[in-house]
Amino acid sequence: MAKILEGKVVIVTGAGRGLGREEVLLLAKHGAKVIVNDMGGSHDGKGEFHGPADDVVKEIKEMGGEAAPNYESVTDFEGAKRIIDQAINTFGKLDILVNNAGILRDKMIFNMEESEFDYVIAVHLKGTFNCTRHATNYWRAESKAGKPVSGRIINTTSDAGLLYNVGQSNYGAAKAGIVAFTLIVAKEVARYGVTANVVVPVARTRLTTEATPSLAPMMGKKEDFEKRYGYDVLGPEAMAPLVVYLASDDAKDITGQVIRVVGGNLWLMHSWKSSEPVKRTPKGFWNPEEIGTPLKELVAKAPPREELAGIIMGALS
Ligand code: NAD
Repeated sequence: MAKILEGKVVIVTGAGRGLGREEVLLLAKHGAKVIVNDMGGSHDGKGEFHGPADDVVKEIKEMGGEAAPNYESVTDFEGAKRIIDQAINTFGKLDILVNNAGILRDKMIFNMEESEFDYVIAVHLKGTFNCTRHATNYWRAESKAGKPVSGRIINTTSDAGLLYNVGQSNYGAAKAGIVAFTLIVAKEVARYGVTANVVVPVARTRLTTEATPSLAPMMGKKEDFEKRYGYDVLGPEAMAPLVVYLASDDAKDITGQVIRVVGGNLWLMHSWKSSEPVKRTPKGFWNPEEIGTPLKELVAKAPPREELAGIIMGALS
C-alpha cells in the first residue's frame, strides 16, 4: 500500500469510536503520526472514560504506527488548545485537524431542555470552533515565520443539518453551522496554505443505532449487508478514505467543499442557491398586499427537498 501521509501529524477528535476511530486508523496506516482525542462518554455526552482513546492508540502502536491519546473535551476552549499543543509537543508540528467528536440529545423542539440545546451546540459547533481556532492560529504563525504550511481542516457535518431531520433541531443547527463556519474559514486561511472542507457521513455507529431509534431500522446488520450487497454499505469505515485523501498533499486545491460518502457512493453537496429573482414593476419595495402572489409562485416552482431516507435507499441501490 502506498503511504500518502508519511511524516504528517494529525489530530482526530472523537477518535475512540465509530467514524473517528476508522479515520484515525487509516490515517495512521498511511504513515501519519496521530493524536487520538476522545473523552469517552456515552452517546449523549455523559461521563468520561479513557478506554476508547487508549484502545485505539494501542491498536495503532501494535501495527507499528505512532499515536498518543488525549482525553480533553472539545467543548473546553483551553482544553482544545491543549490538544493542539500536545500534537506540536509530541510530534513536533501539526498538519491536519479532523473535527469529528459528536453526541446526540434528540427531542422535538417543544420538549427540548435548554441544556439539550446548549450541550449539542457546545460539542459540535463550539468544539469545532475551539480546535480550529487554535490550529489556525498555529498555522498562521508558522506561515508568517516563513515556514512551509500544508494545513488541513476536515470538519464533520450531517444530513440532519443539510436535509433537516425531525427531532434534531439542536444537532441540525450545530451541523449546518459547521458548514457555514468551515466555508468562511476556508476563505480566511487560504493565504496561509490551509484548506478547510466538510464531510457528510451516513454510517452504522452508536449515534445512528442507539441514539436515533428512527434511523436504527435502516442501518441493518453488517452481515446482512455483506450477504446482500457484497460489502457493508453502511459500515463506518466508508468515510476514512476521503479523510485520508483530503489530508494529503494531492488535495491542496480542494477547499470549501461539502462532500458526502455512503459506502462506495460519493457526492459533492451544492450550497444554497437563489431562484431567479421576481422583480417588482414599477421599481420599488414590495408591499404586503402584493408580495404573496409572486412568493407562492416561487414556492410552487421550488425543487423538492431531498430526504435522508431517499439518500440511504439510493446508496443501497
Ligand atoms: P460515535 O458515538 O461512535 O463516536 C463519537 C465519539 O466522539 C465518541 O467516541 C465520543 O466519546 C466522542 N466525543 C463525544 N463528545 C466529545 C467531546 N466533547 N470531546 C471529545 N470527544 C467526544 O459517533 P459517530 O457516528 O462515529 O460520529 C462521529 C461524527 O460523525 C459526529 O460528529 C457525528 O455527528 C457525525 N455524523 C455521523 C453520522 C452517522 O451516520 N454515524 C452521520 C452524520 C454525521
